[in-house]
Amino acid sequence: MLEYFQPTHQANSLDLIPVEQLSRDGIRGLIIDLDNTMTPWNNLEVAPKVETWFKKVKAAGIRACVVSNNSKRQRVAVVADQLGIPFVFGATKPRRKAFRAGMKLLETGQKDTAVIGDQLFTDILGGNRLGLYTILVTPINDREFIGTRIMRRIEKVLVWIMKHFASAKPFSPKIH
Ligand SMILES: [Mg+2]
Repeated sequence: MLEYFQPTHQANSLDLIPVEQLSRDGIRGLIIDLDNTMTPWNNLEVAPKVETWFKKVKAAGIRACVVSNNSKRQRVAVVADQLGIPFVFGATKPRRKAFRAGMKLLETGQKDTAVIGDQLFTDILGGNRLGLYTILVTPINDREFIGTRIMRRIEKVLVWIMKHFASAKPFSPKIH
């Protein structure tokens, strides 16, 4: 049961997935989740590093498509069109038919398709049910949240240092 939730690999973000390794592992097609995997949730902009990563994928002869459970066609199309790749919107991951639709677009099969996404219960579970290669990425929004938390911590530490530094070495007014 638990093995259904076990991805083949994990990465901190989409652009950090080594394309060379995908090629070495015989991957010819990628089924990629949209929200929080390619872009922040309901954000239309693809980061330049993500665009660069897609260029590497293309250069390696690997096809890619977006398979999103998001039901807004326009939202999914805008991102897929920026990258020049086909898409499935309103998919029903973790249902197998969502992944079969992706493989049909890619013209790939069970042995050479990888699923990339940020959710265990949709992307990874669904891909594993079909015996596909699965890659779990950290959700973009969580990464931002962690970033914010770290900044707050640094802020706190700075405030603490300043306080203690100030109390340890107070400016003593010189009395003449
Ligand atoms: Mg997602």
